[in-house]
Amino acid sequence: MATENLITKPTTPIFRFAPSPNGLMHLGHAYSAIFNLKMARENDGKMLLRIEDIDTVRCTPENEKLMLEDLEWIGFEWDEKPMRQSGQFERYAETISDLFDEGIAYPSTMSRREIAEAVEAMTAGGKSWQTDPDGAPHYPGNERSLNADERVEVMAGNRQYAMRLDLQTAVSMLTNQLTWNETGAGPEGQSGTIFAEPDIWGDVILGRKDIPASYHLSSVLDDAIQGVTYIVRGRDIFHATSVHRLLQELLQLPVPDYHHHDLILDEDGRKLSKSRQSTALRHLREAGMTASDVHRMIGLE
Ligand code: GLU
Repeated sequence: MATENLITKPTTPIFRFAPSPNGLMHLGHAYSAIFNLKMARENDGKMLLRIEDIDTVRCTPENEKLMLEDLEWIGFEWDEKPMRQSGQFERYAETISDLFDEGIAYPSTMSRREIAEAVEAMTAGGKSWQTDPDGAPHYPGNERSLNADERVEVMAGNRQYAMRLDLQTAVSMLTNQLTWNETGAGPEGQSGTIFAEPDIWGDVILGRKDIPASYHLSSVLDDAIQGVTYIVRGRDIFHATSVHRLLQELLQLPVPDYHHHDLILDEDGRKLSKSRQSTALRHLREAGMTASDVHRMIGLE
């Protein structure tokens, strides 16, 4: 029997924890890491660690060192050498270039400030303007209407630019409704088969002239290259999955399952942030707590 055409489906589920070393790890990270590991072990899966350090200014080697120490201290384990995204820029740039060649990525030159001013001027005039789930306004510039030569000219010029996805064109190329399988829950309790709504994101940034990567692009590509089959992460990123599904479709990548888990909130019911020192794992440890204390605090004993 000829076997070369048989496609082997991965039998081992592959999980990943993908933190950004841009500050101290806190209880929220501990929950996500240990929750991932528990799911991986319960499913006889493999646990990967991916260091999402495309922000090369805030993600320093020192922060990475502290992060790895904190993760080891709480008992997080990973089964392969961690992947570091700052070593993958060439690969991201190639993908952006492919999307550009297909006419669904374009260079946009408005700065964050120019965007804010343009949107302010429109809304002051009574016009409503959509914001994305992170609260950023959709891109108000009109460079998506430049032709191929004009786009190349922008990229050859001296101005800074960000490559953006031409969302409407991309969505118009879809032949089927995008969905994903959610085994956790979204902010409104969404579970099961979820219909992706990439439109809520507008023309997301795929990369910039100086750093050819963005969270959406790099995480989708790396999940595919690392063979991740089960993405377990915080509920705050639930809506990002809509644009991730679109990118997977455009790039013909496999679709993992998703589990968006509970968030650990502070006393005021707000999401923990890296600037809130009181729940930093390092500070809890310095105050004499043990890893078991942390597991108890996050309810994952
Ligand atoms: N680096 C992202 C974060 O720390 C990970 C998001 C994800 O798991 O997809 O929030």
